[in-house]
Amino acid sequence: MKLPLYFDAHATTPCDPRVVEVMLPFFTDTFGNAASRQHPFGWAAREATDAARSQIAKLIGARPKDIIFTSGATESNNLAIKGIAEASKHRHIVTVETEHRAVLDPCDWLAQPPRGFEITRLRVREDGLIDLDQLKAALRDDTALVSVMAANNEIGVLQPLAGIGQLTSARGIAFHTDAAQAAGKVPLDVEAMRIDLLSLTAHKLYGPKGIGALYVRRRGPAAALVPIIHGGGHERGLRSGTLTTPGIVGFGAASEIAQREMPTEAPRLASLRDRLQAGLQAALPDVTVNGSQTARLPHNLNTSFPGVDGATLLMSLTDIAISSGAACSSASAEPSHVLRAIGVPDNLAKASLRFGLSRFTTVEEVDYVIGRVSDLVTSLRSRRAATMGS
Ligand SMILES: *Cc1c(COP(=O)(O)O)cnc(C)c1O
Repeated sequence: MKLPLYFDAHATTPCDPRVVEVMLPFFTDTFGNAASRQHPFGWAAREATDAARSQIAKLIGARPKDIIFTSGATESNNLAIKGIAEASKHRHIVTVETEHRAVLDPCDWLAQPPRGFEITRLRVREDGLIDLDQLKAALRDDTALVSVMAANNEIGVLQPLAGIGQLTSARGIAFHTDAAQAAGKVPLDVEAMRIDLLSLTAHKLYGPKGIGALYVRRRGPAAALVPIIHGGGHERGLRSGTLTTPGIVGFGAASEIAQREMPTEAPRLASLRDRLQAGLQAALPDVTVNGSQTARLPHNLNTSFPGVDGATLLMSLTDIAISSGAACSSASAEPSHVLRAIGVPDNLAKASLRFGLSRFTTVEEVDYVIGRVSDLVTSLRSRRAATMGS
């Protein structure tokens, strides 16, 4: 076991060595521009990116033509939200207060003058899930878009995508989902779930950083959106710029591996996560788990530790790479807006840890973390009791 241990898989994942191996020739031998139509260098690059497009499309039940490559989920979310807003004659958008900043910020930007969009931010229940009746009541004749994430990046809860898609498709409203955390971890199907736009990023599923995709429905009915980046007309004109062949090939390989291994990997991770949760709760009976324990990613655990100072807790855990319940926009020590939204008091939110298990996490590592975190919390508490008593 090599320290520090990595338990922050919601921030990013390492590139799988199998993915790196597939990528390597595309830096040197097969370096052509996929848009070069006149010679074999371009053809080879085009063939490779087309194959990757198919692998990625398959992961979400889409057609390869409907995949637009971007630099990551932040760009995909911006393209989806601003692109639909610009193309639509409607001026109302529905999203959720627990979304990633890469959804909330583009929505806030659209709300500012002169754009003047009206944004409804749905509240979530104590388990972190939206209420479909509330969503239904929020939909209006002038609603252009509903944007609800597939899986939350802090508490791992899975929103009811199929239920949302039923409501939006019945009203002819575009449905976007940020699936950065869910893709490759839980099954997704843009047809069954009636999703019109879906954001992906490779580095959350053991692929490289700096490459992502936006699924854009092209029929039944087509989602109409305009680009935010203009140029050479790549990607159906929706995202100009030379394709990053190595990144795309890696993204494709990572998607293929994730899909193939999901049936065994998801239960393996869920059982490690359950072991972590049970171990912590056995040592520290007052530990609370944040967010639904059923509609949840298999590799996520978010817990609060009453009676400890969150900053001290995190600072003392130098041998485990992990995130706290303080806002991940790291500069601020504000408690997370997600934990706030599900009613966790600020002091408890700051004393929270987000565990993100990965493909490379072992039982030994989980047991080390259980021992280390419970010993540390116990000693911080007794130190605190001693100072308070003196
Ligand atoms: C990581 C993440 C993003 C941002 O993805 P990038 O590829 O880093 O831009 C957006 N949304 C969610 C839910 C994420 O977890």
